[in-house]
Amino acid sequence: SEKPAAGFEGGKKLSYEDIGGLKDELQRVRETIELPMRHPELFRKLGIDPPKGVLLYGPPGTGKTLIAKAVASESGAHFISIAGPEVISKYYGESEQRLREVFDDARQNAPSIVFIDELDSIAPKREEVTGEVERRVVAQLLTMMDGLEERGQVVVIGATNRLDAIDAALRRPGRFDREIEIAVPNERDRTEVLKIHTRGMPLAEDVSLEEMARQTHGFVGADLAALAREGAIRALRRYMPQIDLEEDEIPPEVLETMEVQAGDFRE
Ligand code: ATP
Repeated sequence: SEKPAAGFEGGKKLSYEDIGGLKDELQRVRETIELPMRHPELFRKLGIDPPKGVLLYGPPGTGKTLIAKAVASESGAHFISIAGPEVISKYYGESEQRLREVFDDARQNAPSIVFIDELDSIAPKREEVTGEVERRVVAQLLTMMDGLEERGQVVVIGATNRLDAIDAALRRPGRFDREIEIAVPNERDRTEVLKIHTRGMPLAEDVSLEEMARQTHGFVGADLAALAREGAIRALRRYMPQIDLEEDEIPPEVLETMEVQAGDFRE
């Protein structure tokens, strides 16, 4: 579905500051998308074509969607987001129609970023007869990408958890020819993600985000965001005995002294 408020999370404009870690990855995405979008003359001068598509791959919840939205938001590009499974329609011709509409919209509102999440879901399953719709959708997507004349002004970002499931035809030059891995964050990057997601919280002195990062090996960005939110909810529960729900106002001294403590982040 199209999201008019895309590039915005919680009503606030998304920025590169909202992405924890992923510095090199973001730099590469910006070079391949934002630079040609803002300065097509550089590419004309060098005699090279800007990319039409970039593929972000890695485990769920690592920030692929976040990067795509932030680039759109920061570069002022129109953002259209579709999910692979949503395009696959069992009604003949409807999937192709949906893709055409998306690309028409992108062209009319260029510069645009078309974000296709779960791109692997439109990979034809070769062993099965049921791959027919997927085959047609891949063919249509190739047609749309090959037909893009707005070089650099309409860019497709695909996201997948399974690079090996992406149809080989989509990965040829002139299509999704840049592949950028968005991996599980290391300890330093987890600290950054935790900083971002506790930014607005009144943290007690005993909270060490570095310590939390050390103890959350294997957590992805989405897990860390959930951990932060849960901590605040547990803090709230701690304060509940001091709050009379019948009262219209929360006592100012409760509001003033409220803190999220280290213990709130533990089970
Ligand atoms: P999926 O493959 O499931 O679509 P994804 O890689 O696109 O996952 P996102 O949707 O970008 O993941 O991440 C989900 C949420 O997790 C984000 O909205 C954000 O709140 C948080 N998050 C994930 N990665 C990061 C990060 N690197 N920095 C800050 N927040 C992050």
